[in-house]
Amino acid sequence: MKNYGINIWGNDNFIIKDGLVCINHKSMPSLLEITKKVQLSGIQGPIILRFEHLIKKQIDTLYDAFAEAIKDNQYQGSFNAVFPLKVNQFPNVVRSIVKSGLEKGYGLEAGSKAELILAMSHTPLGYPITVNGFKDAKLIELGFIAAQSGHNITITIEGLGELETILQIAQTTNLKMPNIGIRVRLHSSGSGAWAKSGGMDAKFGLTSTEILEAMELLIKADCLHAFTMLHFHIGSQMSDISPLKKALREAGNIYAELKKMGAKHLKNINIGGGLAVQYSQHKNDFERNYSIREFSNDVVFLLRQISDAKSVTHPNIYTESGRFIAASHSVLITPVLELFAQDYQLKHLKYKEVNPPLIDELKDLYSQLTPKNAMEYLHDALDHIESLLTLFDLGYIDLQDRSNAEILAHNIIKKSLYISQDNPTQEIRLLQERLQEKYLINCSIFQSLPDYWGLSQEFPVMPIDHLNIKPILPASLWDITCDSDGEIGFNPTKPLYLHDVDLDHEDYYLAFFNIGAYQETLGMKHNLFEHPSECTVTITDDGFALDNIEDSISIMDILDDIGYNSKDLLLQLKTNLSQNDFNTEEEKNDTLQKLEVYMYQNGYLDTTN
Ligand SMILES: *Cc1c(COP(=O)(O)O)cnc(C)c1O
Repeated sequence: MKNYGINIWGNDNFIIKDGLVCINHKSMPSLLEITKKVQLSGIQGPIILRFEHLIKKQIDTLYDAFAEAIKDNQYQGSFNAVFPLKVNQFPNVVRSIVKSGLEKGYGLEAGSKAELILAMSHTPLGYPITVNGFKDAKLIELGFIAAQSGHNITITIEGLGELETILQIAQTTNLKMPNIGIRVRLHSSGSGAWAKSGGMDAKFGLTSTEILEAMELLIKADCLHAFTMLHFHIGSQMSDISPLKKALREAGNIYAELKKMGAKHLKNINIGGGLAVQYSQHKNDFERNYSIREFSNDVVFLLRQISDAKSVTHPNIYTESGRFIAASHSVLITPVLELFAQDYQLKHLKYKEVNPPLIDELKDLYSQLTPKNAMEYLHDALDHIESLLTLFDLGYIDLQDRSNAEILAHNIIKKSLYISQDNPTQEIRLLQERLQEKYLINCSIFQSLPDYWGLSQEFPVMPIDHLNIKPILPASLWDITCDSDGEIGFNPTKPLYLHDVDLDHEDYYLAFFNIGAYQETLGMKHNLFEHPSECTVTITDDGFALDNIEDSISIMDILDDIGYNSKDLLLQLKTNLSQNDFNTEEEKNDTLQKLEVYMYQNGYLDTTN
């Protein structure tokens, strides 16, 4: 896996050039030069780089795929889409999404009051807003306020109670009424880890009996005109297209039946989200069995077929795919802080005048290791190290001897790995797995890759330079939280190999890709590590520009955020310090100032000096 599967998960967004990962767009800058430039502005710790052109690419891909399918199938309905805010509500993302979707009429989807406020303030008037999730009267009233403001808003009801509330509010107010959508509870269920979103036992949606009842309520309240949309969502990261097809047939027939029953204004089918993203970087591990073209074609073809068969107009199609739109736009850059086995560098050897004979033998084994004798010498070395450790336990050799033995044994194994790298035996492989190198990375997995922690969701990861050198160290990645779950272990069936680097002399950065969906707001503040620093990167024809450089919030803000008064805390610490004697007034002032400066910086480790 020399290219870390970039051809599998990368969607041509990145390429490897001269050993560097580069952005495959316009001037093709490398992630390394972008990272260095961001760091120049004083940013420490992990960095989220956002690429707006990748958001635009996904939006355009989605719209173009449907435009083509509509043309090919002579479909009469239109295609529309909204971005579900829960996927990533960060301001720089939402702004980029709205901007990138302006030409297409791309809108926003909200699943809570706070998200609805965001949608109302960021969706251009006339562009669609859809509202899903459980609602109280206040949230529904916000929907009326949005409609009154001129928004094209559809409130999707998840149960009859919500419809009753809408109809009550409609009676007591003169505000404009929002459109009403009905979420259908399908008998066909979804796919993937999130399958509970669809199906008979789903958390959301109306059964067919309830839909009929809803029709009656709407007719009785003389509000049938407001009922414009049918909605379903079969779950996220849909790996297989067939559940969607089933859902489409079911929803399509419900649509046609309701039209025939007199739902004259019903004209939209909202197929929810679920388009999957390729996260695995290993071949034979594809996360979706369909292309975007197949997806759009199936949707359009099936809805046309059903509508034609039942002689109703083709519905306008709405989608709410979020993961597909947002995942690829951001890259998490994490500096590597330490390779744990660096302690075993040969430069740390300290031989004595007289060494135990086994140490001298290890020395010889190391220097005389060749491809031919590698296995034999390796076995001898392993034998010797066993004996040396036993001798240590029995008190025959001292700590310095033991340290020398460990360094030598480690280097013999490493050298035999290098020597046999093109043709490793099964034994070497097993040894390799046992002797993983631990890379300490400057980030929190809980904060930045919560789905790895919670769902074992993999994310593509690779070094951003050194790519012209073959990586041969099996790697496990450790984050800087004090939690043993903050680790991405080496998995022999999906191995990650990284480079042997000397961090005293060079930097080494790992990048995690496809992290733009869900990770940022699901992220946890374990150990009080906060959302990393971020920056929006615009690639131009002759370089790149950095905008919205935002440092991760300071320790002061972190403390305020969870309810402390950080100013009081700082004052208290300063008072404690001032009451003690210092050698000079200058030292005292310096120390006080340092304390203050550190509290106004973020909590990640500083590797910039
Ligand atoms: C979460 C959600 C989406 C987005 O799903 P993706 O898998 O990110 O595309 C769309 N619609 C509804 C109702 C949702 O709950």
